[in-house]
Amino acid sequence: MTKEDLLYEGKAKKIYRTEDENLVYIHYKDDASAFNGVKRAQISNKGILNNEITRVIFEKLSQAGVENHFIRVIDERTQLCQKVDIIPLEFIVRNLIAGSMAKRLQIKEGTKPKNTIFEICLKNDDLGDPLINDHHAVAMGICTYDELDLMYKETAKINRVLSDMFLKDNIILVDFKIEFGKNNIGVIILADEISPDTCRLWDKDTLEKLDKDRFRRDLGNIEEAYIEILERIK
Ligand code: UDP
Repeated sequence: MTKEDLLYEGKAKKIYRTEDENLVYIHYKDDASAFNGVKRAQISNKGILNNEITRVIFEKLSQAGVENHFIRVIDERTQLCQKVDIIPLEFIVRNLIAGSMAKRLQIKEGTKPKNTIFEICLKNDDLGDPLINDHHAVAMGICTYDELDLMYKETAKINRVLSDMFLKDNIILVDFKIEFGKNNIGVIILADEISPDTCRLWDKDTLEKLDKDRFRRDLGNIEEAYIEILERIK
């Protein structure tokens, strides 16, 4: 991988071209950002840990029949993936209320809702990734109602698989964010990463936070929490 092969650099990852136009290398950095890029820092070894945690999770999802972009790990910070055009929506699932929903609606963190909550946000840093609804997404030409239906169904399945997986390791999957993309034959598949950067993960007994909230809220021991997650799910 050389600088010339760089296709895109995001806040936590770099995407490189490969010899095959349908495949990319995804390189995980140690950079952390929160609050729409306002808070930034380096977390040592985060890239290594998230590359490995995402591998374990995507392999588990593949076994459960969830089609996704992950192919294989190349080195400790890099994975080979299908190249996709990311659909600019963040699908968020909430099993317990936390984060922005707790704040916006003044609900105590950790409250269990009567149902599982699904949200979509527009991926747009300038607008701060606003919460939108299905009709907005279709009106903006982002996707069709049928495509939304497919992505919500996949999201619900991913929630079931991952909630069970984490629970076996005494971890509560509080909430998470996923992204989908279209591959070279136009099929919508799960893409991006799934890691403590994109999930809220609490120890089932102590409710200790083992995710990026340790960075957002200055709780310390961030690397230790990510190591703990990896060791439990491996
Ligand atoms: N999330 C994410 N990227 C974002 C926004 C949210 O990965 O740009 C994840 C976040 O880590 C949490 C879930 O989605 O697991 C719900 O996030 P929330 O809406 O509560 O926003 P936050 O308060 O985390 O910014």
